[in-house]
Amino acid sequence: MKRKAGQDRSITRNWRPATIAVRGGTARTEYGETSEALFLTSGYSYDTAAEVAARFAGEAPGMTYSRLQNPTVEMLEQRIALMEGAEACRAMATGMAAMTAALLCQLEQGDHVVAGRAAFGSCRWLTDTLLPKFGIATTIVDGTDNQAWADAIRPNTKVFFFETPANPTMDIVDLEAVCGIARKADITTVVDNAFATPALQRPLDFGADIVAYSATKMMDGQGRVLAGAVCGREDYIEKTLLAFTRNTGPTLSPFNAWVVLKGLETLDLRIRRQSENALAVARFLEDRVPTLLYPGLASHPQHELAMRQMAAAGTIMAMIVDGGRAQAHALLDALALVDISNNIGDSRSLMTHPASTTHAGLSEEVRAAMGVGEGMLRLNVGLEDPQDVIEDLDRALAKAGL
Ligand SMILES: *Cc1c(COP(=O)(O)O)cnc(C)c1O
Repeated sequence: MKRKAGQDRSITRNWRPATIAVRGGTARTEYGETSEALFLTSGYSYDTAAEVAARFAGEAPGMTYSRLQNPTVEMLEQRIALMEGAEACRAMATGMAAMTAALLCQLEQGDHVVAGRAAFGSCRWLTDTLLPKFGIATTIVDGTDNQAWADAIRPNTKVFFFETPANPTMDIVDLEAVCGIARKADITTVVDNAFATPALQRPLDFGADIVAYSATKMMDGQGRVLAGAVCGREDYIEKTLLAFTRNTGPTLSPFNAWVVLKGLETLDLRIRRQSENALAVARFLEDRVPTLLYPGLASHPQHELAMRQMAAAGTIMAMIVDGGRAQAHALLDALALVDISNNIGDSRSLMTHPASTTHAGLSEEVRAAMGVGEGMLRLNVGLEDPQDVIEDLDRALAKAGL
């Protein structure tokens, strides 16, 4: 495996994001293939016993086992690290494997975590159920309230954990302010950046320490594979995180890594077009539904903050209808083009009812406190002609009595 002649970090680190998304991390075999090679291999063989001993001792470069390293996975890790502006990245089997590893690898009994209230259902399960089970206390705060983060700090606070925009309420966390509060208190920030991706928002530029991804969403972007990634400083990734993952095994399949590499080639193109489409759909919906939450609209309470930290508002919005679950389900059932699906970041427009799907595992009180009511619907706008999506929504809204 080698890089293109003359290509080293002094050149690649100056590439602009769209270039990195296509070429970052690419290494070629002796055949000089243009597309990244897919190494479906679990292990490696060695010319001598001394060589493998040296690799296991960390004294010689080279791979030893695909739970730890794989050439296809490594190309993906290098590409994501370059896109993120991070020193290092490790790919994971799913987004939840990435969140779990990013948190557990650095926490121990007696530690305290502060987490944003609005979050993906499984992320809330980590902070509300898993961490306390192992003696790690958590405080849940309104992520949009900077003072609440500062007030929640205890002497044993180790991590701030949040997503922005948040799933599905579209709350925005002020990255610069909250990461600044954390840094002053020597607290590590872990940001779930699944909605924006590095194409729209790079949390490290605002002072975050660790960025974790569900690459299932925009990075694959075509609804094919599950994948995740954790990015950060080299010492954290190669020592703290790797010690945890090499022994617990949330490794990404090389095949899935290859699919995500293909997805990243078009990420910049897709997310910009889908954000434009989403804005057009949001402008239509704003006049038709009682509440529409999309950070790209001036009506979003944190529109200015979102536009300061994001290059575009992304593909996802939430709407709230007055008729609760019955009306929300009626609207979903009346859709002809938009699919009823709980995925996001796909090139297809998809809609779901979070209270009965992605957030069904949380108690009604927790959902209510997060702002996930029975009348909320989440929409991911895809690459279709936005006028067709608008016409489909228009018809379905009328059928549901809106
Ligand atoms: C989907 C999602 C996850 C989980 O990712 P998986 O790849 O499904 O495991 C975590 N956080 C956010 C914000 C998500 O949207």
